Amino acid sequence: MSLPFLEQLGIGELSLPICTGAVYSGDDSDGVQESYSPADGALIGKIGKAKQSDYDHVMATAEKAFLHWRTVPAPKRGEVVRQIGDKLREIKDPLGALVSYEMGKSLQEGLGEVQEMIDICDFAVGLSRQLYGLTMHSERPEHRMYEQWHPLGIVGIISAFNFPVAVWAWNTMIATVCGDVTVWKPSKKAPLTAIAIFNAIGEVLQDNDVPEGVMSYIIGPGAVVGESMINDPRMALISATGSTRVGIRVAEACAKRLGKSILELGGNNAIIITPDSDLKLTIPAVVFGAVGTAGQRCTSTRRLIIHDSMYDTVKDALLTAYKTVKIGTPLDEANHMGPLVDTGAVQDMQDAIAAAIKEGANVIYGGEVLEGEGYESGCYVAPCIVEAKNDMEIVQTETFAPILYLCKYSGAVEDAIAQQNGVPQGLSSAIFTTNVLEAEEFLSTRGSDCGIANVNIGTSGAEIGGAFGGEKETGWGRESGSDSWRQYMRRQTNTINYGKELPLAQGIEFDV
Ligand code: NAD
Repeated sequence: MSLPFLEQLGIGELSLPICTGAVYSGDDSDGVQESYSPADGALIGKIGKAKQSDYDHVMATAEKAFLHWRTVPAPKRGEVVRQIGDKLREIKDPLGALVSYEMGKSLQEGLGEVQEMIDICDFAVGLSRQLYGLTMHSERPEHRMYEQWHPLGIVGIISAFNFPVAVWAWNTMIATVCGDVTVWKPSKKAPLTAIAIFNAIGEVLQDNDVPEGVMSYIIGPGAVVGESMINDPRMALISATGSTRVGIRVAEACAKRLGKSILELGGNNAIIITPDSDLKLTIPAVVFGAVGTAGQRCTSTRRLIIHDSMYDTVKDALLTAYKTVKIGTPLDEANHMGPLVDTGAVQDMQDAIAAAIKEGANVIYGGEVLEGEGYESGCYVAPCIVEAKNDMEIVQTETFAPILYLCKYSGAVEDAIAQQNGVPQGLSSAIFTTNVLEAEEFLSTRGSDCGIANVNIGTSGAEIGGAFGGEKETGWGRESGSDSWRQYMRRQTNTINYGKELPLAQGIEFDV
């Protein structure tokens, strides 16, 4: 199918499953992976499937590239990232459109995702001159101690469909300035976005004599590519984003070989609405958090924990707001909500609603599969509001769809915090209150147990400057800003003796 943004991004009918920077390889002799748009059901493109021999080639190329890349000064590595950021600025519009068309998020959100890539490039460029270690005072005379950070090696990136390009950039830009090389396995639900990126950045890599293998992607079956990556001792770090089910598999494989991992897994994010909340802020934040990306953000708002004195007011305001949500093709900027990623996701949503009803929950809005003109792909749904209880099994589970559970609390904010924390996941959380005591309680050591805790803003839409990640079943490690870079480097403690004696630590005498 001919769409202008596909041509601008150099996406043809058949793409190759491997790129090691500017060099493409692999073929379709093992079949093809097809990419369909959930927006209109059209086939967007096909990609040959990588084989085991392709994986071996990518890893051999990456190993060789690392030997050189680790010796390039970090600010020079940063300069390459700066140019990649400029290239992404040039393709922001078509890449944002492809993100939107291939996985279904609204065009605004697709463009926002590319902006996140640009922002992390800028962040990483600055970081390339700030990979600081500490100095310590030695207990021994004429000794000096310090620590330095060295490149780690090959970083394997496994990404989820819902942030098909930003997660690659979060990992790759930081890893690249740290002196690592990266191998990326994109989601099979949004592979063309990966190809579009490499089509754009190949020129930058070539112009800067960046060796083949510093950045690669490989597209193929999970059983071949994914399993090879997580079991490969050459992978110094696996950064995996996806469901808790897949995260457990990744954790097991990495632990078995004592490999490092960052796991960014499922969330079950709640907003607490207290009697002191300002509903002018609260209601739009809830609707954006629950309906944005059709409820397919790891940070999507899935639960509201509402004080019973506010419950009916909040419920009525939400019912009114939900009626204004426009659902349709994500490429039309007038629409707030596009489709779910595929019909499998639609079925998962229907199953979750049925399970909620079986447990005694009450559906008060939406949930149905939309039919008729513009909805032919079968991936469009009406966002759903359900009155439920926090301890229901379905409420304890992440369903990757726009289902919002309304739960009540009575009494003090501590009761709401207990419900907020009373799920297996620990990614994002928020409280809406103008009461400073409640806000501080929520942020205190007795407060939210999540990696992200916000006051008077919603659960989704994090900025790249902060460290991103969660606790409990959401996994471990942090990506993106703050000092997340340390996970992509190895720390070395150095002690230097500039005297003429050899004193031992802890005063130990050893005369020979
Ligand atoms: P998924 O778990 O189905 O797939 C994630 C990735 O893992 C894909 O690339 C997939 O091919 C790969 N994979 C599957 N089996 C594998 C194996 N055995 N070995 C290695 N890789 C394997 O997730 P999804 O449906 O693409 O994304 C939705 C999930 O991702 C949700 O649970 C969401 O909360 C989570 N997510 C989390 C974050 C976060 O930062 N915490 C961000 C985005 C998405």
